[in-house]
Amino acid sequence: MAIREILTTNDESEFLHKKSREVTEIDNRILTLLDDMAETMYDANGVGLAAPQVGILRRVVVIDVGDGLIELINPVIVYKKGEQIDAEGCLSVPGRSGTVARPEKVKVRALNRNGEEITVSGEGLLARALCHEIDHLNGTVYTDIMIAEITE
Ligand code: ZN
Repeated sequence: MAIREILTTNDESEFLHKKSREVTEIDNRILTLLDDMAETMYDANGVGLAAPQVGILRRVVVIDVGDGLIELINPVIVYKKGEQIDAEGCLSVPGRSGTVARPEKVKVRALNRNGEEITVSGEGLLARALCHEIDHLNGTVYTDIMIAEITE
């Protein structure tokens, strides 16, 4: 396992706005990527990380909002309900935060590291994290859709 460099919008805005490609084969490179992304996320005290944030344009996400590690390959939101407006930040946008409207509940379908189809249901912070990370795979950074910057 290794900690990878997290790209920021200061240097890599164009790259972070690219769309990531689906994973067609879960090979050792993808498994290493998952391991490295989890280590990188925990090292940075983040609650989520998407592969483009470490320079890889593949549809791979890791999340841990305090309930254990979730690894998602090719995640797709298949259900949304309600709305929540709350503060959000991003490891790729250091030192800033802003309010973003997200669904209160989401259901996501994805593959796990064994290639098995899984469904993850989340509400509150987990729903927010799932939406935020899947946005990264589509080249959307939260600052693109935030309602307002939060200033101290
Ligand atoms: Zn982010």
